[in-house]
Amino acid sequence: MKHINKVLIVGGGIGGQSAAIALKQKGVEVEIAEIHSEFNVYGVGIIQMANALRALDSLEVADEVLRRGSPYGQVKLCTPTGHQIGEAGTPPIGKFPSHNGISRRILHEVLYEKCQEMGVVYRMGTTVEEIKDLGDGGVDVVLSDGTKSNYDILIGADGVNSKVRSMVFGDYKPNYVGLSVWRYAFKRPKELETGYMFFGKKSKLGLIPMTTDTIYMFVVTSEGANNPFIHMDERVPKLKGYMQEYPVDMVQGLIAQVTEPSLVNYRPLETLKLPAPWYKGNVLIIGDGAHATIPQLGSGAALAIEDAVVLGEELKVQNGASSIFSRFMERRYNRCKMVVESSERIGEWELMTFEGKELSPEANIGAEMGKTCMALIQPI
Ligand SMILES: Cc1cc2nc3c(=O)[nH]c(=O)nc-3n(C[C@H](O)[C@H](O)[C@H](O)COP(=O)(O)OP(=O)(O)OC[C@H]3O[C@@H](n4cnc5c(N)ncnc54)[C@H](O)[C@@H]3O)c2cc1C
Repeated sequence: MKHINKVLIVGGGIGGQSAAIALKQKGVEVEIAEIHSEFNVYGVGIIQMANALRALDSLEVADEVLRRGSPYGQVKLCTPTGHQIGEAGTPPIGKFPSHNGISRRILHEVLYEKCQEMGVVYRMGTTVEEIKDLGDGGVDVVLSDGTKSNYDILIGADGVNSKVRSMVFGDYKPNYVGLSVWRYAFKRPKELETGYMFFGKKSKLGLIPMTTDTIYMFVVTSEGANNPFIHMDERVPKLKGYMQEYPVDMVQGLIAQVTEPSLVNYRPLETLKLPAPWYKGNVLIIGDGAHATIPQLGSGAALAIEDAVVLGEELKVQNGASSIFSRFMERRYNRCKMVVESSERIGEWELMTFEGKELSPEANIGAEMGKTCMALIQPI
């Protein structure tokens, strides 16, 4: 049985850097192999509910994330004309508010700075080329820069199209759910005191605080079952067109500011559920590589951060990789599955609405969000 002292994490995103911090807190030597030679995180925001903040607190970065983001209360759920029909989000947990909105770039910086402070080694511009599991002898790894090293365990945190997953588990493809999301960042309108979601017939539009001065908008649409590519020159007019469905000042006041095609972040939505267990030998997959979800509950990154925290906690009993990974699975599998499946249900109802199909009375998005958010405040 090998003591875990030296770990390679493949992928330096939210999950990978969070895992690096959690492992460093346990005194483990950590290297991150990140495929990009420089990080270039796009400038729209991310929603962090109270459970994400609780997990970030275990990594000792919650205060910084709150300071550099924008804490807010429950999200107001509204008709297209702005009539409030409900509210959503986790209730506050202890000192953590229902939500914090933050720019992805800033969240990345906070995690990166913490990793630097803790002495995490970054191997930028590299990926993994060979993985040889030696059982009690750990894992021999060859990186794309030719470096050969032995690690006690390898963590695949390389996102929804994980190379580590395909090398170790074989071929799993993400599932396109028929929806896409359009995002754009704006100066913060004075009247925007919390998050808003407007439910239209052709789209859903959200306005989310990012900092005291900025917000981002997301618009969920259906561009068709065959997942078409949207050309750059179509992006501004299409996004403006979707915004017309919402005759409220808060949205109408933003339309003229949508001008720059390269700032329209357009993305088809996909999920992926790797069957349990997410480990084989000395290799574990975390984050989107194991459980990518669509943003209907704003929780994918929260799950990746929680994965990291649980992994760090389970290192307290050093009785071999398979026991640690198996305890990790017991704590993570059902919770992640619940979030992905609840998000998929909400996405399916949204798609039916956009396609003009009739929904059954059980298709209640507010109730579904409420049920899952209440489950998320349970301890991990
Ligand atoms: C439109 C949209 C909106 C979202 N909004 C929210 C939200 O509001 N709140 C929330 O909690 N979650 C949200 N999510 C989910 C969240 O973005 C993801 O769950 C989260 O980024 C997953 O983190 P990760 O580290 O697992 O993967 P990633 O963030 O994808 O990071 C993977 C890292 O691995 C690197 N990498 C990739 N391949 C390799 C390789 N072969 N070798 C080495 N490195 C590699 C990448 O460059 C990257 O740095 C949203 C997702 C989408 C699509």
